[in-house]
Parts: sequence; C-alpha cells; structure tokens
Amino acid sequence: MRFAEEPAAILARLDELRAADAPTHGGHVLSYVYDSGLAELDELAAAAIRAVQPVNGLDPTTFTSVAVMEGEVIAFARDLLGGDRDVVGSVTTGGTESCLLAVKTARDAWGVSTGSTGGTGSTGGIPRLLAPVTVHAAFHKAAHYFGLTVDLVPVGEDGRPDADEFIARMGPDVALVVVSAPSYPHAALDPVAAVAAAAASRGIDCHVDACIGGWVLPFWSSVEPWDFRVAGVTSISADLHKFGYAPKGVSVLLQRGRDRQRAQFFATTRWPGYPVVNPTMLGSKSAGPLAAGWAITHALGRDGLAELAASCERSTVALRELIGGIEGLRVVGDPVGPLLAVATDAAAPASAQVDPHHWADQARAHGWLLQLQPGLAQTGGITLPHTTHLTITPVTEAALPELGAALVAAADEVRGIPAVSAADVLGTLPPALAVGLTAADAQPLDSETAFAILSGIGLLSSGSGALPDRMAPFLALIEALPAPLTERLLTELVGRVVEPR
Ligand SMILES: *Cc1c(COP(=O)(O)O)cnc(C)c1O
Repeated sequence: MRFAEEPAAILARLDELRAADAPTHGGHVLSYVYDSGLAELDELAAAAIRAVQPVNGLDPTTFTSVAVMEGEVIAFARDLLGGDRDVVGSVTTGGTESCLLAVKTARDAWGVSTGSTGGTGSTGGIPRLLAPVTVHAAFHKAAHYFGLTVDLVPVGEDGRPDADEFIARMGPDVALVVVSAPSYPHAALDPVAAVAAAAASRGIDCHVDACIGGWVLPFWSSVEPWDFRVAGVTSISADLHKFGYAPKGVSVLLQRGRDRQRAQFFATTRWPGYPVVNPTMLGSKSAGPLAAGWAITHALGRDGLAELAASCERSTVALRELIGGIEGLRVVGDPVGPLLAVATDAAAPASAQVDPHHWADQARAHGWLLQLQPGLAQTGGITLPHTTHLTITPVTEAALPELGAALVAAADEVRGIPAVSAADVLGTLPPALAVGLTAADAQPLDSETAFAILSGIGLLSSGSGALPDRMAPFLALIEALPAPLTERLLTELVGRVVEPR
C-alpha cells in the first residue's frame, strides 16, 4: 500500500518532537524518569517489547508467554519483598493501577464482611480508607472511583504520622489502612510494623505502598522492616517502571492469600461474547511493558539491582550532605530511599533563607529539573511547608559534581528572596478574572472562564504545551486558592494542552 506519509518522514517528525521533551537520560530531570545509565538494558527492554508487540495481554491462556512472564516477575517480586508461597500477585500497568486495585479489593472484602455493598448496602455504611496525609494521590483517586471516604492522619515535621494517633482512628468502617515505604513527598518510612499489627488485631487489611521504594529499599542500609516479613501487611504495590528501571507501564500488586486476591478480579459470563476474566483494570492490553520488566529482572537479578541501589544510596547521602550544608535550606525529616524533600531552613535569619521553589526555578535555569511540591495545611496538624523534591537514580552519581555545583549556585542566586505571595500573583489578574475566581466558590467554572484565568496568570500562553520557566508563582496559587478551584484550573490546563492545535 502507498502510505499517506512516508514512514521515514513520520519518524523524523517524531525525533523532532522528542527533541523538545525534557531529557529522559543523563540525570537532569530529578523526577518522572528512572535512568539506570545502562544503554544495554534499554536495548534489551526495547527488543523484548518488539518481540511481544502483536500479543494481547488480555488472555494468558491464548498467549501463554504472558502467563510465564507474569509468573516469573511475581515470583521475583515476592521473594524480594519477603513473601512466602501464600503471597500471590498481578502485574499491572503502573503504580496507580496497583493502588486502585488494592483499594477495590479491600472495599469488596469489607463489603462482604459487613454485609454492605460498598456505600449503599444494607448497613448503609460508607467504607473508610485510613492513611497518613502524605499517602500518594493515587489513593485519593481510588477512594473517589470506588466510593470510600479518605481519613488522613496528620504527619509531623519529619513527614511521619504518630503511630498511636493513627491506630486510635481505626474502626469497623475502615476497609483499608495504607502506609508508604517510603512516602513520595518526603521519603518518610511510615511506622509499618505498629500500624500493621494494630490493623491485623482489628481484622483490617493493611496495604504498604512501596511503588517507589519496592525495588530499591530491599538493598538500602538499615531500614526497619516494612514488607511481607511484617505480620499484618496484606498487600504491597511496587513499580517496576521506577527503581526496576523498566519503561513506563509496569508495576506489581502482591496480596497475601489467594482468597483475598481473588476479590481483585472481575469476571462475567452475562453477555453473549467471550467469557471475561480480568485480574486488573484493563481488557485488551499490551504485553510490552511486562516483557520489558521481565527481561530486566532476568538481566539484573538481585545483584544488579543491589549494585544500582548502592549507587543511588551513595548519591543520596552525598546530596543530603551537600544540601544540608547550603545555608538557608534543609532536608526534611530522615529520608529512607533515593528521594529527598528540601524546605526553607526557618531557623536561619530571613536574609539567609532560601525559598525551595525559587531555588528549583533557578536550578532549572542551570539545566536541572527539580519538582516543586506545595505546602499543606493539615486538619488537626501542623502546616507542612512547601518543598522541592529530588528523585535520585543511578545516573545521578556521574552527574554529582555538576549537579552539586548547580544546586549551590542556584541557592546563592536566590538567597534572601522571600517566597512568592499568592496575593501578588492574584493582583496581576485583570479585575474581571479576579471576580471569576471568587465567584468560583458558588459556581463551577466553565471551560472558557477557566481558560481565560489560566491565560491571565501566564499559563497556557506558549502554545507549545510547555509551562513557563518560573513555576513558583503557580505553586503559590495552588497553596492559596481553594482545592476545588485549583483542581478545576489544572483540569483545564491539561485538557487544553492536549487539544488539537
Ligand atoms: C509513583 C507512585 C505512585 C503512583 O504510581 P504511578 O506509576 O505514577 O501511577 C504511588 N505511590 C507512590 C509512593 C509513588 O511514588
């Protein structure tokens, strides 16, 4: 057939588009991407994806390669995370899907045990998900999708919840408690053993979200027990597409006990088509990320993962020391794993303080992409300061001298500059739009008004989808405006970014 466009020209255009992306290799982006630095591992993953490109992962009885690869990946993960033969699992498309399924499973099991069908059942009870305020947003999403309320336990300055306060909130309406190993915002290792034991004694399931830590903490120095070796831990999520170095689209969800795990499945024979059995959320699905993750676990083995983790740990120690030594900044808490949150050192005199968001914006000008995280006023707890997040990967080590110099220089360049005030940002808005913002409380914004506000504050002006160079003002707005409003504005932002140009 004659194609409408030449394949070579299409791929050339894709190369051009890719060149405008944030760099996925080399360690300049300290979030989103997890670069092993091993080109041959990337090649292996690509070859594995190609080998299964036409396969439908929907049906492991027709495409038996899927069953074998999934079994081997689960066996590897189960062994790594201290599970015995009672632990079973599924490969999912990512951390969010693993978390969603952990919550769905617990909700359904809770519904059976209480005679409620999850929100509208005979007892009229709504199940509750209990977790620290630092729990990943995927659990807010899960609760939203599956009809649970979220009960958030405040955390202290160090990003950890108080175990007794956590346990005191457990009750018969709690379908699942979730703790993180570690948390994404602050790299805090939650008190897994205390929480899991208390949950078990009350018959409540306990999920450990090790999406980010699962493939690296097993090799980290002196970490208190947090995996299946802890009695009471009933499920664990761990992303192969993070510190398993697989391309995006692969995670595992392990569950203790076959009977628990079967509540994760959906099966139906009530239609005139093929009998449906879906262990996870998708129907037809790619086997590519599974094949890539499978190939990588075989190539690296435990020793290879350990070697890469050791590099991450050396870099994390070095960066923690370097940042701790920068006047006006401090590392939050006692991070466990290859990630750090950095806040202003409020003990320093104002003239010496460094705002972490100005610092991140300045580091970006030096070619290093750090991730800005908003502060949060906790219900019944302290207000968490805004921070800047760094995820450290194996390629960080070679980049350390250059990265370290940039982090120091960026701090020097913004030291003493106060944090952005949201009122100042709002003051730049035309009065008509400011009215839109206050009226938004009463009435949801329509798409046009939301777009006008976004353009008014300087987002969505480039036309390329790229955000402005300075993100501190927008994070200040996120902190200051009511959550439903910022959520609506961000929805509009992303909706517009991917619309046809
Ligand atoms: C990344 C992450 C998730 C969600 O994973 P995705 O792969 O982005 O869907 C959940 N929990 C933690 C702690 C994470 O770091």
